[in-house]
Amino acid sequence: MNHYVHKIEDMYAKRKFDKEIDNVYGSKADTAAPANNTTLEEMKNSLPTLKNLHAKTGYAKLESSELYSVGAAEAKTFAYDTDNYTKANSVFYRSSFSSYRNLAHNMLHEFGHGVHYFNGDYYRYLKGGNRTDKQLQNWKEQYAFKFAFDNGGLPYQNNAWYLINK
Ligand SMILES: [Zn+2]
Repeated sequence: MNHYVHKIEDMYAKRKFDKEIDNVYGSKADTAAPANNTTLEEMKNSLPTLKNLHAKTGYAKLESSELYSVGAAEAKTFAYDTDNYTKANSVFYRSSFSSYRNLAHNMLHEFGHGVHYFNGDYYRYLKGGNRTDKQLQNWKEQYAFKFAFDNGGLPYQNNAWYLINK
């Protein structure tokens, strides 16, 4: 596919995901969302993009946290070596709930991590050589940002500043 067609598709994907958010939440879309598990569950079930992708995370568990954030992170997805990192658990801190739109964008990014764990790519990379923690973190974030860009047209810059600060 040529560059021009890709660009058009990216624009379409972006409009599509934000449009889904507007369709479901209407005038509430850019207002604060209740910071609880019900909000997460309803959002995951009502936005078509998220509903489709959730299966690909192996139905990752979604939960809200009382913490405002952890460092700059508004959400985190965990998986553990006990099952070769295939089962993911996404935690959304209160800052994620600043608006329904922000939460939806964060959820799409976290689903990127969930898919990454579930499909075994994370495990293979981890076992594939002597990687530093920093390399692992960068690679993991690039994957999730690319996922959110490909599936929702969310802004993505493949540079260190962005990956550390966004
Ligand atoms: Zn991330």
